[in-house]
Amino acid sequence: MPLIPMRVMLDHAAENGYGVGAFNVNNMEQIQAIMMAATETNSPVIVQASRGARSYSQDNYLRHLMLAAAELNPQIPMAMHQDHGNSPETCFSAIDQGFTSVMMDGSLEADGKTPASYEYNVDVTKQVVDKAHALGVTVEAEIGCLGGIEDGHGAGLSGDEAQEHLTDPEEAERFVKDTSCDALAVAIGTSHGAYKFTKKPTGDVLKMDLIADIHRRLPDTHLVMHGSSSVPRELLDIINQYGGDMKESYGVPVEAIQEGIKHGVRKINVDTDNRLAITGAIRKVFAEQPEKFDPRDYMKPARIAMAEVVKARMIAFGQAGWADKVPVVSLDEMAKRY
Ligand SMILES: [Zn+2]
Repeated sequence: MPLIPMRVMLDHAAENGYGVGAFNVNNMEQIQAIMMAATETNSPVIVQASRGARSYSQDNYLRHLMLAAAELNPQIPMAMHQDHGNSPETCFSAIDQGFTSVMMDGSLEADGKTPASYEYNVDVTKQVVDKAHALGVTVEAEIGCLGGIEDGHGAGLSGDEAQEHLTDPEEAERFVKDTSCDALAVAIGTSHGAYKFTKKPTGDVLKMDLIADIHRRLPDTHLVMHGSSSVPRELLDIINQYGGDMKESYGVPVEAIQEGIKHGVRKINVDTDNRLAITGAIRKVFAEQPEKFDPRDYMKPARIAMAEVVKARMIAFGQAGWADKVPVVSLDEMAKRY
């Protein structure tokens, strides 16, 4: 199956009440892990690459890995998404590389750090929407700022500061009218990275009621949860058991995400959990079999460990079982619908 626009997948998810995990990649094993999980669970998939991932893996390698995944798994609908584009140029270059969806994150200025004005955000997002929609490519935007930093992107807000930059539902409504974006990342108290919360988050730090409010105002806009790894204790324990040094941390409980899915969340970004799974599996081989030196000896268990996490999320988010039911719509057809 060719890569399809992300909008098609999210529309189908909305019609059928499920969410779709968006998993970050920067190498072959990660893409393979996602496709293993998708074929085992019959799930549609969103594979996404940040700016950092694109420069690490180089666009050409990444593009061909994606095309290989699509070629080898014709039964799985796939969308390839640019995560946190910092400028229209970044989004345009992703579209040139064949991405079927882009995020224009104008909540921060082009440095990827400074919280931007509403007007700036509308301006850059609109530029991307105009060009992307003409080509059938989906656009995700962001309003409000998340805490933490990932791949050098983020305002680096602490938990308390992030609470001051939560998405304002009224502003979100106006923003979607002003930009016509397809999907909207909302700041509800989550942050990027492994250290999201120092204790299990309650309603005063993770504002799920905001999601319900935004969804009531914007029933046709797909909401996106960023920074939504769950940071399971078991994964931290494996790393620490084999010589790692991860501090105690809490992520976004899967039940909170499931609650969000009931209120319009259609895309859920997960990266940290996969990184933890990979690192734990590699550390285990290094500790238990120090004589090993063939990278396959540790990359294979790492790939399996990541596939297990992805599979569990696909089942939890409800996307499992839907791959063969997502309509195949080409970018050209999609362009005509806008
Ligand atoms: Zn993000």
